[in-house]
Amino acid sequence: AKELGKNNCQFYAQEMNASLEEKLALMEGLRRAVDDKQLRLLYQPKVDLASGQVFGVEALIRWQHPERGMVRPDLFIPLAEESGMIVAIGEWVLREACRQARDWQDAGLPPISMSVNVSPRQFDDRRLVARVAAALAEAGLEPGWLELEVTESLIMRDVQQAVDKMRELEGMGIALSIDDFGTGYSSLAALKSFPISRLKIDKSFVRDLAHSADDQAIARAIISLSHQLQMRVIAEGVETEQQRAFLTQYGCDEMQGYLFSKPVPPEDIGAMLARSAHD
Ligand code: C2E
Ligand code: CA
Ligand code: CA
Ligand code: CA
Repeated sequence: AKELGKNNCQFYAQEMNASLEEKLALMEGLRRAVDDKQLRLLYQPKVDLASGQVFGVEALIRWQHPERGMVRPDLFIPLAEESGMIVAIGEWVLREACRQARDWQDAGLPPISMSVNVSPRQFDDRRLVARVAAALAEAGLEPGWLELEVTESLIMRDVQQAVDKMRELEGMGIALSIDDFGTGYSSLAALKSFPISRLKIDKSFVRDLAHSADDQAIARAIISLSHQLQMRVIAEGVETEQQRAFLTQYGCDEMQGYLFSKPVPPEDIGAMLARSAHD
């Protein structure tokens, strides 16, 4: 049993790439990833339920590692966060996403909103607001087309600091949304003071929606809370018709998930938008 335990442990470490050596190797590689152009963005459509139209996309990063192939963000974003590299990587993401949004507009496609994930260390960066402004200016993108997704746990760490920074971003005309809503511990009183335009129901509540009465209750509560607070509400991780039907029935405004599209390269979004423009 002891032997088995040890093997399991090794297996686990390999699976998770969690060993220290592994981590160091990945971090080392990540340092070069931006300059060596190994990072790219995929985009996942966000669909408005009333119109059935794609009204926006979320930018999701991918690392094309020269030896390992595609490394998932769940693996390297935490390392980037730990090491501080997230600030440089996040800046690249912002610039690339803004440039792409502007490219689609320049191609004559219907304008859509571009959502970018912002992690805690990036949010805390003193120069975040300036970096966002620079990315918009460089791309020539109107701020109203950019949305930043921050997680619930991020904003609840230091509510006053988060409110101040978010007000500043909102003042520039940028939209803000709360990602992974329901997974942290929001103070509902504090939620009111944030300049938030949408809540995103975490996919962990969507997954078993067809069967779990608890998840149904949570999803309904988040939808109703959003609307009470004059926010829109989007569900992520929507994979099935049943999930869509349930969320529609209870008034969810928007959805994102494999049912509509997985994250795809920019050309595919361009084609999607071109089709919808002709509908
Ligand atoms: P997230 O922001 O919660 O993004 C949603 C994740 O769910 C994405 O995983 C997306 O590909 C996946 N997803 C979308 N539809 C479905 C579905 O129908 N079913 C299931 N099971 N999953 C779905 P991904 O792309 O692997 O990203 C994982 C996480 O990495 C993101 O979670 C986000 O926290 C982080 N991340 C990704 N890109 C960036 C980035 O540019 N900057 C930062 N700071 N974090 C990022
Ligand atoms: Ca997100
Ligand atoms: Ca999420
Ligand atoms: Ca998540």
